[in-house]
Amino acid sequence: MPLARIWAIVSSVRYVSNPPNPYLKYSADFLGEPSTVKLEIFEETATKKIITENNSPDVGFRFSVNCYRGCIHGCTYCFARPYHEYLGYGAGTDFETKIVAKINAPTLLRDELKRTRKTIDSLNFSFTTDPYLPIEADYELTRECLKVCRDFRIPVGIVTKSPLVMRDVDILSGMNATVYFSIPFATIEKSKPFEPYVPVPETRFRAMKTLSDAGIETGIALAPIIPSYSEPDIPALLERAKENGATRAFMTLLRLPTDSLREYFTARLEEKLPTKRDRILHQIMRERGGKLNSNEFGSRMSGTTENWRIAVKMFDLHFKKLGFKKYEASAQMKPTIDEPIQQSLF
Ligand code: SF4
Repeated sequence: MPLARIWAIVSSVRYVSNPPNPYLKYSADFLGEPSTVKLEIFEETATKKIITENNSPDVGFRFSVNCYRGCIHGCTYCFARPYHEYLGYGAGTDFETKIVAKINAPTLLRDELKRTRKTIDSLNFSFTTDPYLPIEADYELTRECLKVCRDFRIPVGIVTKSPLVMRDVDILSGMNATVYFSIPFATIEKSKPFEPYVPVPETRFRAMKTLSDAGIETGIALAPIIPSYSEPDIPALLERAKENGATRAFMTLLRLPTDSLREYFTARLEEKLPTKRDRILHQIMRERGGKLNSNEFGSRMSGTTENWRIAVKMFDLHFKKLGFKKYEASAQMKPTIDEPIQQSLF
């Protein structure tokens, strides 16, 4: 994969920490004091396709668009971390600091939709990255792709943790779009150990309100719930989402699908919450049939213990009381307008 050039090196120094990449024969590690790393942005132009079809148990949609690879937000639990290993990078710090911008994404999307529009009922922005990384403010790749979706009248689902989505209110308010804010923790104190570089929960709720007030459908994603840690936040999160105009909600259980992700998650847990480490890991194992990285269970509503059943009941109770609607997978979303697409637009 050609990566055109390093576009910028900016601040945000982080310690280097990457588990061994299973696709590389050799790997190197630092001895002694940990080295530090800065954010690097690479540009990629040669991709043939921009629409990805997936069957991951971590998401409930079929077609997605990702304008970036890697994610500056650096959530320690992110199931997308191992995708960075396909590029020859690590699933740890590399995922957060070596970011690839697919600079021809809007052009590719338009070309692809000319061929495939009839087979794609909706597109989701998110899967292997957040569509509103800070660098999106400059690149505007998500924004340009949204314009393409608007032209093709494709319903859009977005999952983000960033208030930058407010920039695109002008486009989203003219489309069939649902924006989910991923807010799995109610307070900064609970969020920071797992979401070190993500805008704080309060900021995400404010962005939710801005979009709701603009008439855009919004939702909350309690994703993921960290077993034995974040269940008590469920009622407060749903209530605050309701206050801020959300009409949809869903919840997922933490899943650590690869060894490298498990290793990174565990290391950060040890570093940030040493006294809770054993309890959280133990509970993840119990929920996942005895393995931290089990794929056996899907991630939605699928723990195995009484603890998880209580969490689901609590979610259901508040979900009904507050009048939320279910998460709508892309396959169920219907276009607002059924008119034929105006080919002259393209
Ligand atoms: S914001 Fe989403 S894609 Fe980015 S690191 Fe967090 S969970 Fe992963």
